[in-house]
Amino acid sequence: MDFKDFQFHHQVAAGIEAAGYATPTPIQEQAIPSVMEGRDVMGLAQTGTGKTAAFALPILNRLVDGPRGHVRALIIAPTRELAEQIHESIAQLGKKTSVRSLTIYGGVNVNPQIQKLKHGVEIVVACPGRLLDHMSQKTIDLSRLDLLVLDEADQMFDMGFLPDIRRILKQLPAKRQTLLFSATMPPDIRTLANETLTNPVTVQVSNLAPPVTVSHALYPVGQHLKTPLLLKLLEQTDTESVLVFTKTKHRAKRVGEQLEKLGYKAVSLQGNLSQNRRQAALNGFRDGTYQILVATDIAARGIDVSQISHVINYDIPDTPEAYVHRIGRTGRAAKTGDAFTMVTSEDNSMVLAIEKKLGGRLERKTLADFDYTVAAPKKDLEFVRAPREPRGPGKGHKTAKSGGAAGKPAKPAAANPHQSPKPRIAETRSAPKTGFRPGRTGNRSS
Ligand code: AMP
Repeated sequence: MDFKDFQFHHQVAAGIEAAGYATPTPIQEQAIPSVMEGRDVMGLAQTGTGKTAAFALPILNRLVDGPRGHVRALIIAPTRELAEQIHESIAQLGKKTSVRSLTIYGGVNVNPQIQKLKHGVEIVVACPGRLLDHMSQKTIDLSRLDLLVLDEADQMFDMGFLPDIRRILKQLPAKRQTLLFSATMPPDIRTLANETLTNPVTVQVSNLAPPVTVSHALYPVGQHLKTPLLLKLLEQTDTESVLVFTKTKHRAKRVGEQLEKLGYKAVSLQGNLSQNRRQAALNGFRDGTYQILVATDIAARGIDVSQISHVINYDIPDTPEAYVHRIGRTGRAAKTGDAFTMVTSEDNSMVLAIEKKLGGRLERKTLADFDYTVAAPKKDLEFVRAPREPRGPGKGHKTAKSGGAAGKPAKPAAANPHQSPKPRIAETRSAPKTGFRPGRTGNRSS
């Protein structure tokens, strides 16, 4: 199948070409014709399948020749990062259409959002909390809405947004097309789909199959040796861009700080960061300023960095679905990626569950030149320092020295780039107006 088969408007087709998409992904192949026909769609697809373009392209196609200046498509997403990514995809694919899109989420000044809404936009990509604020303050007019997308519905549920979603739905025009995308279909999302969609077409892409281009490996290790093993893996592997997952945000912060201290271009995503710093961390990861991002599942939700070469599970995820979701971030499209998972003896049952889901045994690997016999220190069971090298001038910390095999970008930088982080964008935070809750964001926790 070819994108030409959809017979998109030439301005939309130009955007597809500019984005470098050659052939539609399976979710696009299945969903686009139904969306273009005006049908409600329930899409079971995880991040990395091309689901954003599966709804963005038909939306752009619908709006390109239509009336301007009114919100005609609303996309609701669980996190600010995902909202930004959807907005960026729309901007990229709709570059030639002059259709305008705006993101709406909390944690940032509301006034620019109000100004842009007044000025007129056709697409709004919003997180539920701030959207409700705009609705209650009547700073957004959704009376001419044609199309609603609920993206990552299962995450919205996990993050406690369902009551907000229901409140929003009650206030939207009943006559509209609705698309609901979710990686999984827990009962609450099925109920929401039944309530919200009319005679929907269901499209599903092997939602539990990770991208075929990913190779997986398990690294059995004691909990206290995870950090040294992580360093060894980084040292020995040809990595471009690494996403490290930890169980808790506290651990994400500590691992990020440890890597940074050792000279790696690393940053962690955790809930306590301001929106500007979160965005700077994500932008830095996308543009290569940082080559390692350490995050929890929630904090990493929606992160779309198409060039991620490796996912390293510092901690095994809680469910097989979460494993697939994490791994979905590497091996995207035509690229190949590796997934390393550190496992302790306590993880055996989860390993079995993951293997069952994936339908095969995962390879267990050990590193020949890694000392697995080091005993856990009494004081800090989680982090064991690699033996220190003598300190010399300008060499405050031991760096993970390459054995020569892999002089690769994730190696420690000569100078620590984190010491001069990207300048923060000056943002005027006005006093909150009644009704707007600046602290209420699409990103509840990390
Ligand atoms: P998504 O699942 O929407 O997060 O998309 C995952 C990645 O695939 C993004 O980086 C998209 O730019 C990319 N992508 C989407 N559709 C295509 C396509 N047809 N061909 C190549 N890459 C694509």
